[in-house]
Amino acid sequence: MHLALSSFLNRLVSNSGRQIARRSLNVAARPSDLVGKTPLLDLTPYMKKKGVTNNSKLYGKMESLGPCSSVKDRLGRSMIDDAEEKGLITPGKTTLVEPTSGNTGIALAFIARERGYGCILTMPETMSIERRMMLLSLGCEVVLTPKEKAVSGAIAKAQEIKDQMGDDAIILQQFQNPANPKVHRETTGPEIWNDTDGELDLFFSGVGTGGTVTGVSQYIKGCPEFDLPALKPGLQTIAVEPEEQMLLTEAKGGEKRGEQGPHKIQGMGAGIIPGTIDLDYIDEIVAVHSDAAMETCTELWLEGIPVGISSGAIVNAAVEVCKRPENAGKLGVCIIPSFGERYFTHPMFEPMKAKAEGLQKQPLPEPFDNTE
Ligand code: PMP
Repeated sequence: MHLALSSFLNRLVSNSGRQIARRSLNVAARPSDLVGKTPLLDLTPYMKKKGVTNNSKLYGKMESLGPCSSVKDRLGRSMIDDAEEKGLITPGKTTLVEPTSGNTGIALAFIARERGYGCILTMPETMSIERRMMLLSLGCEVVLTPKEKAVSGAIAKAQEIKDQMGDDAIILQQFQNPANPKVHRETTGPEIWNDTDGELDLFFSGVGTGGTVTGVSQYIKGCPEFDLPALKPGLQTIAVEPEEQMLLTEAKGGEKRGEQGPHKIQGMGAGIIPGTIDLDYIDEIVAVHSDAAMETCTELWLEGIPVGISSGAIVNAAVEVCKRPENAGKLGVCIIPSFGERYFTHPMFEPMKAKAEGLQKQPLPEPFDNTE
């Protein structure tokens, strides 16, 4: 095509594109309106590098890209919306109290600011300084509890604060709150279904409260209790748990393996079978060791995908399952629960911290001379 004509046509297209964009402004009114509608990322190239050659595909649901960088943004908004709808909380009066150091605390904190609720989070004193700073910067109060008492100390403290404050405080209880699986039934599940045109065969999620794995599976496999038709009853749901804490495996009648104890996959393996999980929706449980989770996480960063340790665990499990001969040509979707920068005090980043500190001690490179 003649050059002048083609550049004229290009301008016409881009001008009209700009006009359309102007007419339909796409602006979130509130921070919580940014929650959800996360994109899918094709992780098949990574799987191929790991030697998977059976034409299976893997997409990551990038919950790491939420407004406060984790899948828990959905939960925070859903529990607060639900309590508002039920008239249980009043802006300017109610304080949300929750025992959580994790991403749920961050989600509750930012939505509490948006809506005008107080927010007090209780957590063991072992929680990193960054985590405390994040929550304090979001304007909530942080109450530390003795490390010897671990999570149960934080739970007891939250209850004590709630008892003192009476009707002015509420504990939303992520491990028991039905608004937890509900938000994944109503948002995460439909998003995955629509964005894959219903073509997914395998779904992978880590389990903390179990809200994500349960809600998404209920939406796709169907759930009469909530009038949901079976869109794909044959969907294989694979839950991922730490190998050092194989409670779900045991609950489903499997065998634990290796030494059981503390693990390093934050957000997963809470050490209880939560009220928010429905084990009947889970077809298989894959246990991944913290070391393997960190290794995969490191590899994902080097693919340009900076995510948290649990994403490493889930992708590790997904690659293992996708490469089985019976999964040739199948499509898997895995949850990528959180963004990686939140974990800089995690042992995974110790080598990088040492390297970063070491940089100062190296001599500066010679200035580049291009005069020759
Ligand atoms: N947060 C993080 C960081 C996680 O890795 C996971 C596991 N996918 C969860 C939360 C778990 O979500 P849920 O509580 O819905 O099971």
